[in-house]
Amino acid sequence: MKVTEHIKQANGKTLFSFEIIPPKKGNSIQELYNNIDPLMEFKPPFIDVTTSREEYVYIDRDGLLDRKITRMRPGTVGICAAIKHKYNVDTVPHVLCGGFTKEETEYLLVDCHYLGIENVMALRGDAMSHQKYFEPATGGHTYACELVKQIQNLNHGKYLHDVIEADDKADFCIGVAGYPEKHIEAPSLKSDLKRLKEKVDAGADYVVTQMFFDNKRYFKFVEAAQQAGITVPIIPGIKPIAVKRHLQLLPQVFKIDLPEELIYEVEKCKDNKAVRQVGIEWAIQQSKELLEFGAPVLHYYSMGKSDNIKAIASQLF
Ligand code: FAD
Repeated sequence: MKVTEHIKQANGKTLFSFEIIPPKKGNSIQELYNNIDPLMEFKPPFIDVTTSREEYVYIDRDGLLDRKITRMRPGTVGICAAIKHKYNVDTVPHVLCGGFTKEETEYLLVDCHYLGIENVMALRGDAMSHQKYFEPATGGHTYACELVKQIQNLNHGKYLHDVIEADDKADFCIGVAGYPEKHIEAPSLKSDLKRLKEKVDAGADYVVTQMFFDNKRYFKFVEAAQQAGITVPIIPGIKPIAVKRHLQLLPQVFKIDLPEELIYEVEKCKDNKAVRQVGIEWAIQQSKELLEFGAPVLHYYSMGKSDNIKAIASQLF
């Protein structure tokens, strides 16, 4: 079922969902299941599965380093199918512009359709680690908006090159990313919102936000988005702080602010076990307020480990 249908059916009740990361190449999927199992009691209507950018690996060939480009965490669509099959839950593969040609994206979407996957998150992806700015693949998309248009075209039976009398059209529900504290490359929050509106106008059905730690940012963002004419559901993304290093890492990678009170509580911690507990308590408070606000879904970034998400969800769902 579509994410938007789940939201409609919930009739104002806030839903619980989460995002997982595929295992590294060569690792078993069992660890993923071990982390999903404890969260199923909270009845997530859908689970997101991320896609990672390609990266360089260096192979030692008789003392000479050979550079190869590879995706270390492949298998997003396969994992979506496996989870859907095992848990009977909807899954949302993240589809990236970065590293994919439009043809490859078309094949991936066709696979999703055959597998009964009805939702996709359309994302640009970040620059690769050695690049300063995002560069599209040759024959790939530059912005997520273009990807949304491709998916919408497919929904209307329009493939890239072929004129096909499609008798079994896809009907993907499309999610896109939104940034309460603006995207790192956007010149202003206002221009970033204009870009978000373009994605919605191109056919996006809902928005999932970047993580934030001060709910006021989300409330203001929702208000500004509505004023900009964005009427689709805006799902807040919540990440519990888990290690002390997050104090530097999260602002650096995502260009987000951390509230003084949270910084103070984390800095007081003697070890990362204590930090994890602070992260849980902060996320519970955030979640309670977001529930009161009437957020359609609370979407948690699990980063592969679910004990903290379970501790949070058990207080709320
Ligand atoms: P876009 O919407 O294309 O925007 C990128 C930037 O370009 C913004 O600054 C925007 O303002 C600007 N822009 C847009 N259109 C134009 C235009 N026409 N002209 C000029 N500027 C323009 N990354 C992954 O690699 N894998 C994942 O699985 C993944 N999942 C994510 C899930 C969520 C919920 C979120 C919030 C992010 C996720 N990301 C993921 C990160 C995302 O790929 C990056 O934040 C990326 O840098 C931007 O992606 P986007 O889809 O928002 O891009």
